[in-house]
Amino acid sequence: MLDFTLTPEQLALQQKARKFALEEVLPVAWYYDEKDETPLPVLRKAFDAGIMNIDIPEAYGGQGLGLVEAAILTEELAAACPGLATSIFDNSLGMEPLLLSKNEDARKRYLPRILNDFKMICFATSEPTMGSDVAGIRCMARADGDDFILTGTKYWITNGGLADYITVFATVDPKTQHEGICAFIVEADWPGVKVGRPIPKMGQRCSNTVGLKFDNVRVPKANVLAPPGKGFVLAMKTFGRTRPIIGAFGVGAARSAMEFAMDYAQKRQAFGMPVSGFQAIQFKIAEMYQKVETARLLTLKAAWEADQTGDPTLNASIAKMVGTEVALEVVNEALQIFGGYGYTKMYPVEKLLRDVRLLRIYEGTSEVQRVIIAGYVMSQYQPVMPALEDLPLHRDNDPLAADASGPAWRCRICGHVHYGDEAPDECPYCFFPQSAFKKVS
Ligand SMILES: Cc1cc2nc3c(=O)[nH]c(=O)nc-3n(C[C@H](O)[C@H](O)[C@H](O)COP(=O)(O)OP(=O)(O)OC[C@H]3O[C@@H](n4cnc5c(N)ncnc54)[C@H](O)[C@@H]3O)c2cc1C
Repeated sequence: MLDFTLTPEQLALQQKARKFALEEVLPVAWYYDEKDETPLPVLRKAFDAGIMNIDIPEAYGGQGLGLVEAAILTEELAAACPGLATSIFDNSLGMEPLLLSKNEDARKRYLPRILNDFKMICFATSEPTMGSDVAGIRCMARADGDDFILTGTKYWITNGGLADYITVFATVDPKTQHEGICAFIVEADWPGVKVGRPIPKMGQRCSNTVGLKFDNVRVPKANVLAPPGKGFVLAMKTFGRTRPIIGAFGVGAARSAMEFAMDYAQKRQAFGMPVSGFQAIQFKIAEMYQKVETARLLTLKAAWEADQTGDPTLNASIAKMVGTEVALEVVNEALQIFGGYGYTKMYPVEKLLRDVRLLRIYEGTSEVQRVIIAGYVMSQYQPVMPALEDLPLHRDNDPLAADASGPAWRCRICGHVHYGDEAPDECPYCFFPQSAFKKVS
């Protein structure tokens, strides 16, 4: 059964997240963006309100909500501030490898602390010299008795300067690529963990982003989330579950930009009328609305698939790609509707534009999503249509053949169908020789 209706519980979550976004996030977003600072008090309020960590399973005391709920909630938060939404959602990203891993002992030790003690957890695959190419990780994990020793640097780590725990992906041998990748949960105050300066960014300045250095950090084997050889798949599975939510970031940001633009267009006068009276502006609004709706459907579909099957990889990439690209297009057009005022810091659209620009980059770039989608379509997709050379013949009504009786031969190059006992010596259209013809009946 196909049903697009949200349940009463989902509607209640949407209202709760909307209220939080409007009352706690929107009023402070521009201030903290200007200050280039992550507002910990707001994160704490999100934690207290049950808006963070919603995915911790009930077995560990959590709400056990799914990705559909995460997408609904994130749209609301990102509508108010994509940067703060990133900081709030980052706990789910950092936690996902722990939730997906086979290490039940680590789950029992860490999830209650994250749930009850406002502990933050971040996610670290990227390094100064690699991001998309996760198999190219260089951070080293060396087995040493019952421990692993971590040495290397991670970069671009959201909440890395605030987090208590870090899910670190490393390798036992960079030369072995995927086969060497492993993953650990590391505590930020363990000896050898060093936090870099906050990276000065164009947007999402309410979210903390740093480099992390691991200088001979001793990690007990009990904290292994994926042994060597299993870490790459764990990282990919994590992305499969977090990418739909990045799509939801795009939906939220695009929706609020559209709403701001509608409001402005109805108030701004030009040529004796509100600019909303011009069809050129109305069409922009129509495009925006259509894009927000499209992106939301794809995002919810991927989230739903994750909840139903656990593996939404393909639809996660589609949702991420469309949601984030739509966001950039919609916010950019919203800024256009604001005219010169859109380009100032007095109205919210310039911040949204800076914030959403990141969405096409983190959690796998738009290009990487296309690589994933193309890989599926080119190798696994099962076409319904016959191959071109096996298209049905039109013997009874073929306007291109004087006599459509007898065996039929199709030119594999240009598609011309020849009727006769033999294929022609040469195709009369493309001049390819007889060998280009396939007997098709
Ligand atoms: C603000 C911010 C926060 C982030 N937070 C985190 C975090 O919390 N944890 C974490 O681990 N990482 C994080 N990242 C890193 C992010 O995931 C990477 O930046 C991203 O995956 C791209 O990697 P890269 O920057 O190394 O670009 P590269 O991989 O070097 O790519 C450069 C360009 O080449 C393109 N490209 C690369 N490979 C291909 C290919 N096969 N086909 C076509 N094009 C290709 C890319 O799309 C891009 O346009 C964050 C990044 C930013 C900017």
